[in-house]
Amino acid sequence: MLLTNCPLCETEISKSAFSCPKCGHPLRKPERTVLGKFVKYLFIAFNFIMLAIFLVIFFDFFQETEGHEKIGEKAIFMGLGLYISAMIVMTWVPISIILGILTFLTRAKKQ
Ligand SMILES: [Zn+2]
Repeated sequence: MLLTNCPLCETEISKSAFSCPKCGHPLRKPERTVLGKFVKYLFIAFNFIMLAIFLVIFFDFFQETEGHEKIGEKAIFMGLGLYISAMIVMTWVPISIILGILTFLTRAKKQ
């Protein structure tokens, strides 16, 4: 076991300790596990991807309605756009919540 001295109280302590057992001085930050990091980045990436898809489809449908001057056609495109947007949000939100919970559960903690 590698030993070091606490910078605060000079007590000899293990290098793998997160904090000094005597004075409680923090020595190093606990890190996320590989899985924890993966879940965190997946959570961030997923939100960015869903946001990008949502914006692309939203503006695509918005532009599509511009080309159709008839009220009926416009309504169909707007309805379809809203329907697809709702579908995306309904997929996005639950997955985001699950990934959010997983990110929280795999957060760095002191051993
Ligand atoms: Zn100490």
